[in-house]
Amino acid sequence: MNNLNLDWNNLGFDYRQTSKRYVSNYENNSWDEGNLTEDANVVINECAGVLQYAQTCFEGLKAYRRKDGKIVLFRPDLNAERLEESSKRLYMPVVPKEKFLEAVEQTVLANADFVPPYGSGATLYIRPYIFGSGSVIGVKPDCKFQFRVFTTPVGPYFKDGVKPLSLCVSDFDRAAPSGTGHVKAGLNYAMSLHALQVAHENGFDENMYLDPQTRSKVEETGGANFIFVTKDNKVVTPKSSTILPSITRRSLMYVAKEYLGLEVEEREVYLEELNDFVECALCGMAAVLSPVGKVTNQDEVIVFKNSSTEMGPVSKKLYDTLTKIQMGKIEAPQGWIKVLDEVVEKVS
Ligand SMILES: *Cc1c(COP(=O)(O)O)cnc(C)c1O
Repeated sequence: MNNLNLDWNNLGFDYRQTSKRYVSNYENNSWDEGNLTEDANVVINECAGVLQYAQTCFEGLKAYRRKDGKIVLFRPDLNAERLEESSKRLYMPVVPKEKFLEAVEQTVLANADFVPPYGSGATLYIRPYIFGSGSVIGVKPDCKFQFRVFTTPVGPYFKDGVKPLSLCVSDFDRAAPSGTGHVKAGLNYAMSLHALQVAHENGFDENMYLDPQTRSKVEETGGANFIFVTKDNKVVTPKSSTILPSITRRSLMYVAKEYLGLEVEEREVYLEELNDFVECALCGMAAVLSPVGKVTNQDEVIVFKNSSTEMGPVSKKLYDTLTKIQMGKIEAPQGWIKVLDEVVEKVS
């Protein structure tokens, strides 16, 4: 099936150009039909809204190859819904759910050779995004937009084994109250680059951001939500209107409750109570779940006893269960898995 000679087991998380990508343009209040193209370059005006005022948002999801060779997507409808929320907040046109799903499926099928083989641990990362592609110099929404979907094969996240992360409480803020923290906007990442650079220079893997208003509550990292586990195995995740609603986190909380019978709580989590947790992990599409060993807050180091040297036992169960659901080894809740039908491949 894979006629490409890629070293699937040693792929990192880097951009690697694949055969085709989807493009659709919005002008005069409507999206055009959309089509696949081999051209990986975008040509837009120098004054495009994305270039001048960062009018852009994106999504990220993966295609997985199952044992029977079938390609599946995990809850792509939730990515469509989240992109809709992001678009509305950034005053961009909404891509209808049907169009979004069709675009993602077409793009994956057109690059089926790049979906890594079953068992390699690698996946095909899918990046849908929308940006202002017209021209705008006064501060207002752009008049034209482009919706694109490209794919790139990525390696197993834990290829060198699982090593718990070391985080620091950031002096910088990620998302203002009533700001854009709850949407997947490129601008949230642009302004987090400096904070991440500082964290790296200080020897940390990632930042733990606090709520900017009181700086007493835990929010998330630059690109992943938190889950914590209490001494009595309760799974806790921070609740805040400025956290990006991770699809992985929402799925893990469901799995914790419905598959593992654990107590779950989505509530405000105070920095002060971090010492009460025995496990901490980050969740997002890239790694599903990565253990956090410790968090440094000024002079204080908080160590999560059960996830300080390896993935904590509760996190491990969550990780195993969710990845088995994704790979079809255990039954998924209704509607979670979309099996792609390679027969209907359309290449225009
Ligand atoms: C994308 C993203 C996540 C993770 O979301 P998933 O849907 O699980 O991939 C978490 N936080 C931020 C800020 C994000 O942009």
